[in-house]
Amino acid sequence: MRFDIFTLLPDTFAPYLQASILQKASERGLVEFRVHNIRDYTHDRHHTTDDTPYGGGGGMVMKPEPVFEAVESVVENTHKFSMDSAPGCPVILMTPQGRVFNQKMALELSAHPRIALLCGRYEGVDERIREHLVTDEISIGDFVLTGGELPALIVIDAITRLLPGVLGDPDGAMDDSHASGLLEYPHYTRPPEFRGWGIPEILMSGDHGKIDKWRREQSLLRTLRKRPDLLDSAPLTRADQKFLDEHRPAAHMKEE
Ligand code: SAM
Repeated sequence: MRFDIFTLLPDTFAPYLQASILQKASERGLVEFRVHNIRDYTHDRHHTTDDTPYGGGGGMVMKPEPVFEAVESVVENTHKFSMDSAPGCPVILMTPQGRVFNQKMALELSAHPRIALLCGRYEGVDERIREHLVTDEISIGDFVLTGGELPALIVIDAITRLLPGVLGDPDGAMDDSHASGLLEYPHYTRPPEFRGWGIPEILMSGDHGKIDKWRREQSLLRTLRKRPDLLDSAPLTRADQKFLDEHRPAAHMKEE
């Protein structure tokens, strides 16, 4: 999969993309990161990428010409990421006004061979970029950052770890919180006792059937206590429903 990133701060990407799992994925050819400096697509002496807003007010706005030229010279063919069968590449604007990113969107996007991410700065981009260049808008949450670089890295990270071969354990991403619609069960590692705190005995039993059942129940309990809203859309078996019904009163008492 290939990511084309358009930014005014290209140097901010290397430290994260050249570390750990993302670096290994790129060395193994599973993913390609291309960072494009929007300033390289300016033609004036001062390499101007922003200007004051029409209508007055504070702040600066990213100009349309260099952004259009940068994206159009790298991405030939674009389409929205929800249109699975259409050829072309989604061009995604990072913006606090976009659809709020989640695991389902990461999974959908991971099916694309190529994605372009546009990072805003200042007050954001000229509206004509949003109307006529980008195909999608993604927010990473209801708060405002100084630029789209961190949001782009978050989207890249979440998608890359879903690509086949990227994680050492091929099933590693399946149990993760949100992947199954539930929060993940708790993890423990050595030592078996730390400051007098032990670990659940079942994890030492070697009985994988019982361990799987315990983990499923822990997932259900955690979701019930911390994010009960997720249970409305999680795929649940009858046994899950029965377990939840039995534990619902206790979960409510803990919250109070
Ligand atoms: N004035 C804009 C608004 O109110 O919608 C916010 C601009 S923000 C200071 C500058 C840039 O940071 C945005 O263009 C966007 O690329 C990025 N950004 C800030 N918060 C974001 C978020 N929650 N999700 C995605 N991108 C964000």
